Amino acid sequence: MSDCLFCKIAKKEIPSEVVYEDESFFAFKDINPQAPVHVLVIPKEHFATVNDLEDTNLAGGLVIKAKEIAKKLGVDQKGYRFVLNCLADAGQEVFHVHGHLLAGRKFTWPPG
Ligand code: AMP
Ligand code: ZN
Repeated sequence: MSDCLFCKIAKKEIPSEVVYEDESFFAFKDINPQAPVHVLVIPKEHFATVNDLEDTNLAGGLVIKAKEIAKKLGVDQKGYRFVLNCLADAGQEVFHVHGHLLAGRKFTWPPG
């Protein structure tokens, strides 16, 4: 989608700190980190919200990529959180599906 921030980041039209890239997925550091590790994992294909996801491989792939990135960053054994915010009540601000991979500190539950 031409006016989507995360599509532009995935195409490297807007710079980001790239953590991982393959044919279908892209991961980069969040510009406003909420934890020592805060990486956004996105499908390269544009979907506005989780409600628009239908492809099981793509949806599942997002989790598998998060797991692999957690391992690559050395936080897989201590623990991490992988968060998908969908629409207003969840605080979604960028309408291109993205998972927040958060790690490096202890998180509380339930989230605020
Ligand atoms: P959400 O509230 O789930 O839509 O999260 C959007 C996230 O995108 C926030 O954590 C922002 O800090 C992050 N973000 C916004 N613009 C950029 C950018 N240019 N590069 C990296 N992260 C960004
Ligand atoms: Zn997009």
